[in-house]
Amino acid sequence: MQESELTYFKEILKSREEQIIKNIDGVNKELAQLNSLELNDEGDHASVSTDSMVESAIVHQQENELRAINAALGKISIGDYGICAMCEDDIDFERLKVKPHAIYCIDCREIVEKSS
Ligand SMILES: [Zn+2]
Repeated sequence: MQESELTYFKEILKSREEQIIKNIDGVNKELAQLNSLELNDEGDHASVSTDSMVESAIVHQQENELRAINAALGKISIGDYGICAMCEDDIDFERLKVKPHAIYCIDCREIVEKSS
């Protein structure tokens, strides 16, 4: 991959990283707020708990993506970015544009999804 392309993806990954950190922060603040509400209002206990479960799931998902982004940024710095972790072919440029932290090419992705 060319230097200019690497820089392009690095910028995308960095801004995505910032956005996710902000999101997680926001959800965590909201969770803390919900938890304090929970203590004050026993009557609404059930619905608040459901909300916090959904929010926890979102945080969990975002944390996974954050890890994937960190891994991708690490790969950029060692010059390993955009290479499929399974077959070691180049990952399609268009695919990386949609999902810059992708670690598999489209073919391998399908195999992984089917076997899981
Ligand atoms: Zn592959």
